[in-house]
Amino acid sequence: MTAPSSHRTSAELILAEEPVLAHNYHPLPVVVARAEGAWVEDVEGGRYLDMLAGYSALNFGHRHPALIEAAHRQLDRLTLTSRAFHNDRLAGFAERLAALTGTDMVLPMNTGAEAVESGIKVARKWGYDVKGVPADRATIVVAADNFHGRTTTIVSFSTDETARAGFGPFTPGFRIVPYNDLAALEAAVDETTAAVLIEPIQGEAGVVIPDDGYLTGVRELTRRAGCLFVADEIQSGLGRTGRTLAVEHESVVPDVVLLGKALGGGIVPVSAVAASRDVLRVLHPGEHGSTFGGNPLAAAVGTAVVELLETGEFQRRATELGGILRDGLEGLIGKGVAGYRSRGLWAGVDVDPALGTGREVSERLMREGILVKDTHGSTIRLAPPLTITAEELQEALGTLEKVLTQGS
Ligand SMILES: *Cc1c(COP(=O)(O)O)cnc(C)c1O
Repeated sequence: MTAPSSHRTSAELILAEEPVLAHNYHPLPVVVARAEGAWVEDVEGGRYLDMLAGYSALNFGHRHPALIEAAHRQLDRLTLTSRAFHNDRLAGFAERLAALTGTDMVLPMNTGAEAVESGIKVARKWGYDVKGVPADRATIVVAADNFHGRTTTIVSFSTDETARAGFGPFTPGFRIVPYNDLAALEAAVDETTAAVLIEPIQGEAGVVIPDDGYLTGVRELTRRAGCLFVADEIQSGLGRTGRTLAVEHESVVPDVVLLGKALGGGIVPVSAVAASRDVLRVLHPGEHGSTFGGNPLAAAVGTAVVELLETGEFQRRATELGGILRDGLEGLIGKGVAGYRSRGLWAGVDVDPALGTGREVSERLMREGILVKDTHGSTIRLAPPLTITAEELQEALGTLEKVLTQGS
């Protein structure tokens, strides 16, 4: 008889995955069995501080009591209807999310990539129906080093060869310009342009923050050119940077905001396209849809997420804790840290390449009880749950210093 999986060791469980799981990931060798707040526990009872937080899908930590309660309550009533019928949770969710994000209409989807795909479809439809772009000629301008997801259309405009190679033929209609370069953007936009699609901060690229004025410039340029500004806030949004949306740092209001990750509270996949009525009204029945999008469980959890953000508490925490994070990283410059970029409780840390790759540093941190993920090269990303305490954050920074200065 085989032992129940909870009694198997990490090594056994990792080996068991080998023959049956597609190898599209290279996880750190830790097998997580339970979690609470900012802490996770492996199958052998080892405890780790989670400084990745599911790429910001866990902004409120693991199993936030208000979110778990909302999910439990909804599980006991209704979980799925499809959009063939109304459900009693969806309208309330859409209203609250629109109010939170300063938009007036919401298209509910499931994953981030679906929100991006939906945003692209909406932008193209708007280009034809409202702007008058000739049929099948619409273009969307995007930034180099972007990350918007993994579908065939989205990897069509990725500049990461690993994400693209072997997956063509690619979807036409995208123009790629350097990020943080308004002149290049201006040159790429013309009468066929339906939208400019960018991340207000490029997360996967290593938490790359554009110069002050870039987002304002994108807003002015797109308004002048008569095209939409679509902001992918899937990773930067919902409290991470100290604001509900990262675009708020420049008081910019995009035409379309893409949300995902934290919107599902770390419980279920929930994403959305939030936009003005002028934009989202281009969709009519039958033109777009999703079996699971807007399901009552997702709507209940999403509403509870919006309720947490309505208090402003998490945005404040991200700002305050972000100060501790920044001070800590500043103190490590020259002590293993070559540079860093941070906004709110979110940082890309360039480790001195002589100390190892981001992967190697991540493995050393893991052995010291800190879970992080490298982005590429020698860059690691720090994005702990916004519920982490100042003491826990200091502890993580202390461990980072130890790993970088003594090796381990
Ligand atoms: C994660 C992410 C996506 C894709 O989200 P999935 O839920 O993984 O499909 C899209 N855009 C950005 C900015 C992201 O960080």
